[in-house]
Amino acid sequence: MNYKIALIRGDGIGPEVVGEAVKVMDAVGQKFGHTFEYVDVLMGGCAIDAVGCSYPEGTAEKCRACDAVLLGAVGGPKWGHSTEAEKRPETALLSIRKDLGLYANLRPAALRPALADACPLKKETAEKGIDLMMVRELTGGIYFGKKNRCQTEDRGEEASDLLAYSELEIERIGRRAFELARLRRKKVSSVDKANVLESSRLWRQVMHRLKEEYPDVDYEDVLVDNAAMQLVRDPGQFDVVVTENMFGDILSDEASMITGSIGLLPSASIGDSAPGLYEPIHGSAPDIAGQDKANPIATILSVAMMFRYSFRLPREAEAIEKAVDAVLAEGWRTADIAKEGETAAGTRKMGALIRERI
Ligand code: NAD
Repeated sequence: MNYKIALIRGDGIGPEVVGEAVKVMDAVGQKFGHTFEYVDVLMGGCAIDAVGCSYPEGTAEKCRACDAVLLGAVGGPKWGHSTEAEKRPETALLSIRKDLGLYANLRPAALRPALADACPLKKETAEKGIDLMMVRELTGGIYFGKKNRCQTEDRGEEASDLLAYSELEIERIGRRAFELARLRRKKVSSVDKANVLESSRLWRQVMHRLKEEYPDVDYEDVLVDNAAMQLVRDPGQFDVVVTENMFGDILSDEASMITGSIGLLPSASIGDSAPGLYEPIHGSAPDIAGQDKANPIATILSVAMMFRYSFRLPREAEAIEKAVDAVLAEGWRTADIAKEGETAAGTRKMGALIRERI
């Protein structure tokens, strides 16, 4: 098969990590008989420098013409202070998610066996293994609800943000979670705050209706405060965790912390018809940009997610994941995951080692 992939290399370490991921993709193509055509798309700080705005006209159209999008990272101190939205790199991230209708954010948090000692939890907890998938609703809820500020007569200023969800929004993300669980260990934990919030009561109502359609998948409701506790007490109990935008924002960061380094974790944002967008969870790391120090594994594992979820090629995805685990098991580390006294491999070396093991 031939696949067309939009590459948003972006800023800081973005071009370095995307460069290594592309070489790994080509190695997979050679081994399994696929070809890849790459289309460079300018977005972020580099686009501000080149054309004066972070999200140039036609960005979404270029991406829509491809089968998937791979993004490095955007932003950096050079562009951090503009008051104009189009001159802020982060505006481009919100715009592309909205324009491509990417309402489901998938963030796996898996403890790679060779790095079990990087887990900050108790040894016996880590030994049970951690392999969960956070499914966060990405385009609704309180971040997008009506915002208000007003002056009261006797209590100073007052501010509010509306947390609104429709059945349609809940059902489509819920369905994603159940479908994913079928590809994994067949368990869905739906996180809400139904004891207090009306939006959560609707969330739970829709999820209960959906679970009847998936009798082969185990289902549980978990209150968000309990979910935050269980993630550090016994994360091994979770398979697919589905939740609304703000709860997901907080819980997915908590889940990524328990697996060690930010340089290891991939993510996917997907919608119904547009190409999925795959990116590491880390930012542009300006402090180490251009120094061959960045860990490319999160971006390389994002490519594995692309194969699995956009192209439905699980064997190719596994080949990448196994190559990463093999390199780590041999003791190779980049600086962010190396222990004191260990020599660290650079970005290019780590990329080459993974490529060789495909
Ligand atoms: P960051 O993730 O870029 O860096 C945080 C720390 O982790 C830094 O010390 C960095 O060196 C380290 N780090 C990050 N990725 C690494 C990797 N692959 N290998 C080794 N070390 C790594 O977060 P930040 O410093 O808060 O943000 C820097 C810039 O990135 C900001 O402009 C921010 O807005 C932007 N950002 C972009 C995205 C995105 O493009 N999706 C996400 C988060 C932050």
